[in-house]
Amino acid sequence: MFKKILIANRGEIALRIQRACRELGVKSVVVYSEADRDAKYVKLADEAVCIGPAASSQSYLSMPAIIATAEVTDAEAIHPGYGFLSENADFAERVERSGFTFIGPTPESIRMMGDKVSAKQAMIRAGVPCVPGSEGALPDDPKEIVRIARSVGYPVIIKAAGGGGGRGMRVVHTEAALVNAVQMTRTEAGAAFGNPEVYMEKFLENPRHIEIQVLADTHKSAVWLGERDCSMQRRHQKILEEAPAPGIPRRIIEKIGDRCAAACRKMNYRGAGTFEFLYENGEFYFIEMNTRVQVEHPVTELVTGIDIVQMQIKVAAGEKLPFTQRNIVMRGHSIECRINAEDPFKFTPSPGRITMWHAPGGPGVRVDSHVYTNYTVPPHYDSMIGKIIVHGDTREQALARMRIALSETVVEGILTNIPLHRELMVDAKFVEGGTNIHYLEGWMSQHKR
Ligand code: ADP
Repeated sequence: MFKKILIANRGEIALRIQRACRELGVKSVVVYSEADRDAKYVKLADEAVCIGPAASSQSYLSMPAIIATAEVTDAEAIHPGYGFLSENADFAERVERSGFTFIGPTPESIRMMGDKVSAKQAMIRAGVPCVPGSEGALPDDPKEIVRIARSVGYPVIIKAAGGGGGRGMRVVHTEAALVNAVQMTRTEAGAAFGNPEVYMEKFLENPRHIEIQVLADTHKSAVWLGERDCSMQRRHQKILEEAPAPGIPRRIIEKIGDRCAAACRKMNYRGAGTFEFLYENGEFYFIEMNTRVQVEHPVTELVTGIDIVQMQIKVAAGEKLPFTQRNIVMRGHSIECRINAEDPFKFTPSPGRITMWHAPGGPGVRVDSHVYTNYTVPPHYDSMIGKIIVHGDTREQALARMRIALSETVVEGILTNIPLHRELMVDAKFVEGGTNIHYLEGWMSQHKR
């Protein structure tokens, strides 16, 4: 096992990784920007190093600053968390070339999955079902594009090969709008992701977003840890997640889960990862793979009892997975609400000083958050200030526990989306389970205020 790990991230996930290190008896170093000086995990850290000003480009995205800090602090490995450099293959490569272990997959895996066209091709080779669409990137010839769209069938969605974070996508309903839409997506993709390549998929009208968590070691063993339903989204951004996915027959999930674990073995994948699928009419369609720990990993931890972050560290240190698929037992139901510093119904960010923070507690309640009373939420980063996660024997019990947890939570001084979560937890359709990815936006247009 490593003696010391550098945590190349901020916010709740930096604290989450710090906790995993502590439990493993590993020392950790946190890096922070000038805007995060007062964060709890910085104060609690074994070692903390300021690596630059608030702007992420000069701090959390600065590869030289992070690697130099690993050198001067004698860290052996770097955990990238999520976002920032976590899915940057060049960073993983530079980390390893500098003699440190990157806690994540190989640069080759990250590169392959980071390009959605090559990711899809790898999945097709591994026997994972994909959304029907263009074979690879779209050609330049407009006539060819029209022909491909006809064979896929309208509506179609044009997606950037290098896209991420819900950006770089455009739905096209008619042939008249097609060529122009492809051109616009290309231009945007070139500017935003440095890669103008786009591809086409059938636009599924009413899918759910279901994802499979995997873990793989460097000894050819790979398992899947159940699924998560992340259909509650706004602008392709998840706001709450749950495990298991309500109403999907176990045998369908097991089939796709086994395919994902087999794909990991075939690709020599290592570490934690997530296969994201759209699920419609009883079928799974792969959309992308995330090669890192995800925001919503706790719901899987609560139903499986497996600490995903500790497992990431262990397999990075060369250890074998301590279980096989047969040992993995899913128990009960878990729900996570992402708490964002934002207007609950207009979604405008609401950074600033938290004058009062009171976290919920009680049976089956977990809070992953780095904030506290008098903490100031900096305006420079993502608006998520924490996550409330609950576990119950049944979905009903988990819902009840989340309602109580949300009713106990007090955040004053800034606006948060807690009022939105409180309403969703008593919404008849959500309570019934199985709402699709358009549900939240439809709900919001009916609940305008
Ligand atoms: P990103 O990497 O930007 O998150 P994804 O490929 O994971 O992009 O897609 C994000 C979201 O966009 C999905 O959760 C879904 O809501 C929507 N989406 C993507 N592809 C399709 C499709 N073929 N049909 C319908 N919706 C889609």
